[in-house]
Amino acid sequence: MIDTHTHIYFAADYPDGGSVGAVDCALEAGVSHMVLPNVDLSSMEPLLELHHLRPDVTSVAVGMHPEEIDSDWRAKTDDVFARFEGESPVAVGEIGIDLYHDRTYRFEQMDAFGYQLDLAMSMRKPVIIHCREALDEVMEMIGSMGDGLPPLVFHSFTYGPAEAERVLRLPDTVIGINGVATFKNAPEVREAVALAGIGRIVLETDSPYLAPVPKRGRTNESSYLPYIRDKVAGICGVSAEEAEQATDATARKIFRLPT
Ligand SMILES: [Zn+2]
Repeated sequence: MIDTHTHIYFAADYPDGGSVGAVDCALEAGVSHMVLPNVDLSSMEPLLELHHLRPDVTSVAVGMHPEEIDSDWRAKTDDVFARFEGESPVAVGEIGIDLYHDRTYRFEQMDAFGYQLDLAMSMRKPVIIHCREALDEVMEMIGSMGDGLPPLVFHSFTYGPAEAERVLRLPDTVIGINGVATFKNAPEVREAVALAGIGRIVLETDSPYLAPVPKRGRTNESSYLPYIRDKVAGICGVSAEEAEQATDATARKIFRLPT
């Protein structure tokens, strides 16, 4: 089972054994690999430190999160990409547009997303997209990139089936499903999962956020991934084993992880 999106490198969230403890706990729960996406300048060092402590079971993704974008985004983004040189990132992310809390830097967010999409294309890396209240803007930027788009993962997909159909029209694109699919108040996400089908889904926890039922409200960790796998399996009408095999195969292909 592959957790394609986890921030368990925020050690303060994991007082029992810290980040390394959280990784080992996930391994015991049947998680074989974890992708660690960067957020901003301050997340880089704990992220890389954890990766260096558990290099075989973690991979890193390089990017500047949309909520960290302001008028000074260009210099900070360049610093992030420079720091990850030589760290063999498996993807660019998480990048995108988030207009949920604040629309102040809408145009800067679009520019920064386009800039990082360009970098992903020149690095020939897949992209982990964070998109909240901004699907039109995200699709506009993707549409402006021309041919040769890399594989895209719409992480923490919390839209419904109509939006799923819209993004899945893009080739080599999948949706990342997390604990939200287990929430009682998110039937539209389950409809999106059913529409996508098991072949266009990857699993994620988005730890430390969005812990799945029955752990909802607690600090999320990668070891809770089986709850998400089981939910997705149930919606798609396949066994837990089939769901795991299919989503693992998709994740390995997109991020070019060793089998
Ligand atoms: Zn994230």
